[in-house]
Amino acid sequence: MNPDNFHAVILGNGITGITAARHLRVLRPDCRITVISAETEHFFSRTALMYLYMGHMEYHHLKPYEDGFWAKNRIELLHAFVSQIDTNAQQLHYAREFSIHNQAITPGGTAQQLAYDVLLLATGSQYNRFGWPGQDLSGVQGLYGMPDVLQMETNTRDVRQAVIVGGGLIGIEMAEMLRTRDIDVTFLVRETAFWSNVLPLEEAQLIGRHIREHHVDLRLEAELEKILDDGTGRVRAIVTKRGEEIPCQFVGLTTGVSPNVSLAKSAGLDTDRGILVDEFLQTSAPNVYAAGDCTQLRKPAPGQKSVNQIWYTGRIMGETVARSLAGQRTAYQPGVFFNSAKFFDIEYQTYGNVPAKLPEGEQTFYWEFSSGGAARPGHLGGAKALRLNFRADTRALTGVNTFGLRLRHDVCDRWIKTGTPIEEVLENLPAANFDPEFFKQYEPEIVAAFNEQFGTKLRAKAKKGLFANLFS
Ligand SMILES: Cc1cc2nc3c(=O)[nH]c(=O)nc-3n(C[C@H](O)[C@H](O)[C@H](O)COP(=O)(O)OP(=O)(O)OC[C@H]3O[C@@H](n4cnc5c(N)ncnc54)[C@H](O)[C@@H]3O)c2cc1C
Repeated sequence: MNPDNFHAVILGNGITGITAARHLRVLRPDCRITVISAETEHFFSRTALMYLYMGHMEYHHLKPYEDGFWAKNRIELLHAFVSQIDTNAQQLHYAREFSIHNQAITPGGTAQQLAYDVLLLATGSQYNRFGWPGQDLSGVQGLYGMPDVLQMETNTRDVRQAVIVGGGLIGIEMAEMLRTRDIDVTFLVRETAFWSNVLPLEEAQLIGRHIREHHVDLRLEAELEKILDDGTGRVRAIVTKRGEEIPCQFVGLTTGVSPNVSLAKSAGLDTDRGILVDEFLQTSAPNVYAAGDCTQLRKPAPGQKSVNQIWYTGRIMGETVARSLAGQRTAYQPGVFFNSAKFFDIEYQTYGNVPAKLPEGEQTFYWEFSSGGAARPGHLGGAKALRLNFRADTRALTGVNTFGLRLRHDVCDRWIKTGTPIEEVLENLPAANFDPEFFKQYEPEIVAAFNEQFGTKLRAKAKKGLFANLFS
């Protein structure tokens, strides 16, 4: 292997592919790196897509790096669609001309070839469409990438009523986006409470109330049956499984996302829900790795999911796989699970394992504060909640959920990793707290609620100084 000629090709310029490219450049200063994507020429923050539609940001604000960064670091960017991988010849077929409609990409022009020594597939996800009658009508779409935001811009022009199908993180973002344009939103959620397959009931109900405070018509236990045509090929209404007809000129499909596996599958790689990878993130083909949203771990660690479609996982996987791409085979160690999101005004963080149903052998503590009113524009909502899960026998902390308050990542991570007893966590909550005001106002109340529920006599240890939490 001649280092000067070694060519690493990365398919996908999302958080996973870009993290891998950046780390690979440091590990192998001399190799050639090409990053290919059909979506956009440059990497952008997918999690901030909603702010583009809401007018809070422009496209260039979404790009974490200056455009000159890539040439400076000798990372070649290729804006193209890859239609085929030949794993025997170790080359890709790509087209620079292509069109995208409802996630389907049609290549044009002549196909070109690109040889690789090592290939990383970081092809991300796509939103689900379950074959509903009318799903191809104009005004019906999901939300995953830049083409979807542009399509939403067109699809929601002069729209008065919208229906969103499927209650998860992207569904609630879409509701917020539409409400900023004064569009009436009916939100169909199949479960008995919002996102209750992920959130414990109290949190699911808290977010459900918050959604309604934002004047969204949240309908629980409601499912889509079909979408009706207005006679011109545009949506005019939807019908639920109970037979109710709801007039609308826009339908948002937010019933989850699936790993983008079609290219890998057609190349003969092992796939299931995602592209199957071992602990080194290697696929079934030699010199081909996969990471991020598109992957499925063959053997996930106990308590871990095999498919993780979140930003943070993409970043960690990208960093890990860069070492293998550089020839230093390294196993992926996910560490303590973390995710964060926003439900209208309520910030959400989760650490470790907080499933909807409390695992056997664990106990849970839940505290909630509500100001009792809707959030004002520009102000965080009044609702705040904290959940701490812990082992009943060892008392070790296993998971944390926060709503409307922010804790320090490093502290929560350490507490869970080291199995810190719940009592010690409660007494040291200020060490994890970002917000001095929150500490003053609510921590004594949280500790008192724990004492009442578990018969303890704990006291929160006071902070050493006004800014102690910033430097501890
Ligand atoms: C609206 C929205 C909000 C989100 N909010 C959060 C959040 O708050 N917190 C969180 O943790 N996660 C969030 N996520 C999920 C998170 O953004 C994803 O987990 C993450 O972006 C996945 O990164 P990735 O690099 O693996 O894939 P992607 O970012 O999907 O990148 C894959 C790229 O590969 C390209 N590609 C695929 N196939 C080909 C091909 N054949 N040829 C050329 N290019 C190809 C795609 O076009 C795409 O650009 C959100 C997602 C969305 C859509």
